[in-house]
Amino acid sequence: MPELPEVETIVREVRPALVGRTIRRVALSHDDILRGVSRRRLQRSMRGASIRGVARRAKHAIIDLGAHHLVIQPGMTGSLMVYDRPLTPDEVRYAVLRAPLDNGQELVYRDVRRIGRIHLLDHEAFDEYSAALGPEPLAAAFDDAALSNALAGTRQAIKKVIMDQRRIAGIGNIYANEALFAAGIDPSKPANRLTPEHRGRLRRDLQRILEAAVASSGTTVRDYRTGTGQPGRYQFELLVYGRQGEPCRACGTRLTGTHEIDGRMTVFCHRCQS
Ligand SMILES: [Zn+2]
Repeated sequence: MPELPEVETIVREVRPALVGRTIRRVALSHDDILRGVSRRRLQRSMRGASIRGVARRAKHAIIDLGAHHLVIQPGMTGSLMVYDRPLTPDEVRYAVLRAPLDNGQELVYRDVRRIGRIHLLDHEAFDEYSAALGPEPLAAAFDDAALSNALAGTRQAIKKVIMDQRRIAGIGNIYANEALFAAGIDPSKPANRLTPEHRGRLRRDLQRILEAAVASSGTTVRDYRTGTGQPGRYQFELLVYGRQGEPCRACGTRLTGTHEIDGRMTVFCHRCQS
């Protein structure tokens, strides 16, 4: 599933083409990606709406339509693109939502397996949605105190805690593994056992890695594509994710892979991380 850097990349790329444009109409190939909104209400609310802004919150792209916010959660195979040419038959096949714009371009949410989600929220529902998510780790306000606050009151494994969207927004399996390796922290360590020094390192490494991944347009392991259809480049920088059984880049020890912490593949070096 695309994480903060991938969704941030998509949002930055589609924003210039979308802000200030008016949506002429909306066509949906399937309803199964809609949550809390019917096809008819979505179409009625979006038709003629002008796009005020395009932003990211956690792992979601947010399109501000004035009275409503369209919240798009791209699944593993989901992507958002703006086309300035007719779609090819293959592109049409996987385009779930198509919204022609007033300048002849077209906003398309494409999702091969349709595991993404689309919500349409009014102001009140949007505020509730946003308030239920943790702080943004790349915001200037996310300092050591903010991380300590996010980790407070839980003995759960640190990896699980930093992936909990209610505690910190935007981090998934790839960047949790990478940040914990960089900070030298065992992913299974209870969050309340981290020392202030651990937390300081984790905060700095999380931010450094997320920023580097945004600068590289995200990580393409399989399906993720940027808002212009290109693969990301951060997969070449990964030190542990996907490298279970391979030598640690720092000490040469064979990296451990386990599903025991959270059901996802956790990769770490038992020598460098404690
Ligand atoms: Zn190592």
